Amino acid sequence: MIEVYKTKNIGFCFGVKRAIKMVLKEAEKGNEKIHTIGPIIHNPQMVEMLADKGIKPVTDIKDINDGIVVFRTHGIRKEEEEYIKRKGLKYIDATCPFVKKVRRYAIMLKKMGYKVVIVGEREHPEVKSVLSYLDNDGIVLQKPDKVDFRKIGVVSQTTLEKEYVLDIVKELLKEAKELRFFDTICDNTWIRKQEASRLAQEVDLMIIVGGKNSSNTTKLYEKVKRIQPRTYHIETDKDMEKDWFKDIKRVGITGGASTPDFLIDMVERQVKNF
Ligand code: SF4
Repeated sequence: MIEVYKTKNIGFCFGVKRAIKMVLKEAEKGNEKIHTIGPIIHNPQMVEMLADKGIKPVTDIKDINDGIVVFRTHGIRKEEEEYIKRKGLKYIDATCPFVKKVRRYAIMLKKMGYKVVIVGEREHPEVKSVLSYLDNDGIVLQKPDKVDFRKIGVVSQTTLEKEYVLDIVKELLKEAKELRFFDTICDNTWIRKQEASRLAQEVDLMIIVGGKNSSNTTKLYEKVKRIQPRTYHIETDKDMEKDWFKDIKRVGITGGASTPDFLIDMVERQVKNF
């Protein structure tokens, strides 16, 4: 039988657990419709499960006229928050406190006269959210590059690797006269990567469970794949193929911060069945 090993930090991270708990508590009251702007977390199966409980994502905030609006873990845009408040809609702010910290530092740096650089993925909702709270007066950098400002304040998307962020900071330092950098990377992401990298060296095959739309799961997969070439990124147990496990004795399983325990358990059961 295949031996299965899991990383210690698996299942929802603190921020996701907190957000899900908040919406489920509201849904249990059963009084009002609950909307999230975009998916509350980047995990399609969990979002589907929440939809069954009446918690549904909308793409356009203008479609919401009643009920309760949930601010998702990655944060919403400033104009969306203003719209919700202007309309007098009820809301639950489930933004992860670590994401809020990025925003807080960015706003503070702007007020202090720094040109704010957000290291991160331009299209990621967290980055879009932070930028919006700067009234779009900030620069997003995805790779080392020059910016034409001498007084620079840097924050980063929570799920990035420190070395990656520091490479960008080092490049900025070449031109800057003054630079302030707030390390806003979430420890949880880093710990997961360390644990998964260690496990990948001890097994014959690694399974990374999580949404294909989840940036932190994808990055986890890319990192682990560099260590263990037989690494697969799957969303559910149904994505696995029996052939992968031919002549395999030890399998490692881990997941992204937005992967629910029930998906991990299903994958574990299925692997043991192969
Ligand atoms: S990974 Fe970190 S920053 Fe992102 S939601 Fe989880 S706790 Fe918050």
